[in-house]
Amino acid sequence: MEDRKLLVDTFAFHGGCTFGKGNIEKTGEGRLALTLVDKAANRKVRVAYRPTLQPRIKASTFMRQRTAGVPADQIPDADQRELVDLLWEAPEGDVLTVGDVVPAAWLEPEEVARFAVGLGCGELVAEPYLRVVAGEQGCLACSGYLH
Ligand SMILES: [Zn+2]
Repeated sequence: MEDRKLLVDTFAFHGGCTFGKGNIEKTGEGRLALTLVDKAANRKVRVAYRPTLQPRIKASTFMRQRTAGVPADQIPDADQRELVDLLWEAPEGDVLTVGDVVPAAWLEPEEVARFAVGLGCGELVAEPYLRVVAGEQGCLACSGYLH
């Protein structure tokens, strides 16, 4: 979870993308990968974090402390530095798999300002998140779409 958040945060910082702007979409697949879309040129590329360094990362002092439940900001700087250096000094091929650039048509997502009251909870639900079960519209939770 922490690694996934870091990957998205890093991408957001350098790519100017945010969930609020709608130019990041989470797929929920749980993989450490991103598909970058060049909207102007209608092309995309998938970048995935490789598992090559994972055994060394897992064995690092930093990750052993994280696994034991120590919050990242309470881990000594030297232990944090060890992990940063491991990634920073690794050859690119040990860190990322960069796929082929392939054509990708882009349709700008519609800005949604429509809401409906979910019948289960009675709360406002943005239209794209509404689900209909047995003819009744509800939020994802009330409709049983969340596990
Ligand atoms: Zn609901």
